[in-house]
Formats: sequence, structure tokens, C-alpha cells
Amino acid sequence: MAELLRVENLKTYYNTLRGIVRAVDGVSFTLRKGEVLGIAGESGSGKSTLAWSLLGLVPPPGYVKEGHIYLDGMDITRMSEAELRKKVRWKKISMVFQGAMNALTPVYTVGRQIEEVFKIHAPHMGKQEVWNRIYELLESVGLHRSIAHRYPHELSGGQKQRVVIAMALALEPDIVIADEPTTALDVVVQAQILNLLKRLQREKGLSIILITHDLGVIAELAETVMIMYAGKMVEYGPADLVFTRPKHPYTEALLKAIPRLRGPVDKLIYIPGQPPDLTRPPPGCKFAPRCPLAMDECHEKEPPLFKLVDGRLSACWLNRNEALEAGG
Ligand code: ATP
Ligand code: SF4
Repeated sequence: MAELLRVENLKTYYNTLRGIVRAVDGVSFTLRKGEVLGIAGESGSGKSTLAWSLLGLVPPPGYVKEGHIYLDGMDITRMSEAELRKKVRWKKISMVFQGAMNALTPVYTVGRQIEEVFKIHAPHMGKQEVWNRIYELLESVGLHRSIAHRYPHELSGGQKQRVVIAMALALEPDIVIADEPTTALDVVVQAQILNLLKRLQREKGLSIILITHDLGVIAELAETVMIMYAGKMVEYGPADLVFTRPKHPYTEALLKAIPRLRGPVDKLIYIPGQPPDLTRPPPGCKFAPRCPLAMDECHEKEPPLFKLVDGRLSACWLNRNEALEAGG
């Protein structure tokens, strides 16, 4: 599959009164056409900041400090706001923002709100053409076209989330970023939305970046997984390998913390301690203060991202002996 997106050593920081928050600190990865990449990590690990960086939408006081984001060969970190708007957002990459379904404007019908996207980003399209496309979009996400004439408060949570996904697809982007697309939904609707994303990926060859703290959601959909901790990518590789044989103690801890429905439940497992303050991260491995396997050197030297024999990347000193090479 052809490479669509290449991110190289991306650093996105926030200047705050407390100091510089290194929210994304040297992340590199690629995304191929039709690939579903799941990004997981605890709250505050930098997932949303990474997503906003890909759209050039990091809110102040944030900024891309360093690195490159190549989309179809163009470095979007070097683009002006006008260029990003004209060439990238909605047309190449669009995003289903966290909580977007609750941000639909209550005073306009669903159709009017989707029409706005076309008015701003495709002003050359005629009214009839736009409305045909709105009906087509709603049907493509499993909604009846009559939904276009209803107000958000008349829809269920699952229907609203489908509307938001339809909006993200309006200008036929190559990549959709979905930030916690199922968090506020009950499990049945959650499964329906995941199935919808799966179908869209298959039928339209869409690439999806799925951001969530829920590894179960990623297991449903993603073929590649990135685990983030304290602004860093700590493990990256094919989902089946990462889920069955994790190579980083943090991934292992996240997997153990997934609640089980079957079998005896003694107590809920959680990861003790807190992620570090990103204005003053510890000098060695960022996970060392919470890692049950930490060695003395972990507290002093930051592990590089080791490339392993099976193609995976893992930033843990324990992988040193089976590493092919050390990157980043
Ligand atoms: P969540 O799952 O809770 O959305 P996340 O993994 O997406 O978390 P981010 O929201 O990207 O993480 O936050 C990464 C870090 O950047 C956190 O330490 C957060 O406090 C900080 N941060 C995010 N937005 C801002 C901001 N506008 N100003 C200052 N710091 C910020
Ligand atoms: Fe744990 Fe050390 Fe590996 Fe960090 S480098 S995850 S502290 S074993």
C-alpha cells in the first residue's frame, strides 16, 4: 500500500506559566493508504496534540517546535494557514473531534450544518449538487436522508456521531482522524460506530487514525498500534503482535488494566502512580518511576526506540539484546 503520511521527529510544545509542556516529543511514523492506525495511551500522553499537529490546528500556547509532516510529499509544517485551509483540512485530512457530536449547533438542521462545510470549502458547488451530496453522505453512514431536515436534539447519540462522521467525509479526504469516537456511547452503539468505520475503510480505502485510551476499541479496528507515554511513542507495530506479545512494560500494564467480562474478578487492575509532569519529565525512561521492571540505568538514561527483529519498535532497555538497531 502506498505511503500517504510521513511524520518525522515531531515535537509539539505548549509554553505555559509553569514552563514548557513537551506534549509530543519526537514522534515519527508513517501511514499507508487504507491503513488503520490506533494510538493509545493514558490521558495527557499527547494523543490529541499529535492529531491537532497533523491538521495544523494546535491551539495556543501550543506550537510545532520541530519536525516534519509530509502529506503526499508536501511538508505541511511549512505551510501557511491559508494553504492548510485550501489544500489540507477536510480535503486531505479531516477529523472527528473528541465530543464533536455534542458540539453540533442546536439551532440548525443537520443538513444546514453539513451544507456549511461545502459553502466554506467547496464554494464552486451548486446548491442542488451540494444537497444531493448531503443525502448521499448521510446514506453512506447508515442514516436515512430525511435526517438532513432534523435538528441535533431530535437524534440519538449514535445518530449524531454518524452525522459528525458524515461531515468529516464531506470532501472525500484520504485520512480521517477519529479522536475518542465512541467514548460517550453505550456498548451496542459503540460496536455499530466501529463497524461503520470498518466499512468506510474497506469501501472507500480510507486511512484512519483512531485515537483512544481504550485498547479494546483499537483491537476491533486497527492493524497498526502506537502506544504513547508522556509525549513519546514507546511501542509501535502490528496490532496482533503488540496485543499478544507486548514488548514494553507500559503496553503490558495497559493491557492488564482492560476490565474482563468473564472469569473471576478479584479487583480492578490499574497502573499505580501518575504520568510525569511534562514540564519536568524525569531524565531517564519516562515510565521508570512506575515501571515494575525498572533498573538503575532506566532512571538515568533514556532508552532509544529499538527496532526489533519482528519489525516492531520499542523504547525499553530490556529490548536492547534483541534489537536490530536503535533509532530516534
Ligand atoms: P486525553 O486522552 O485526556 O485527551 P491526550 O493523550 O490526548 O489526553 P493531550 O490532550 O494531547 O493528551 O495533552 C498532552 C499534554 O499537553 C498534557 O500534559 C496536557 O496537560 C497538555 N496540554 C494540552 N493542551 C494544552 C494547552 N492548551 N495548554 C497547555 N497545555 C496543554
Ligand atoms: Fe521499565 Fe526500564 Fe523499560 Fe523504562 S526502560 S520501561 S523503566 S524496564
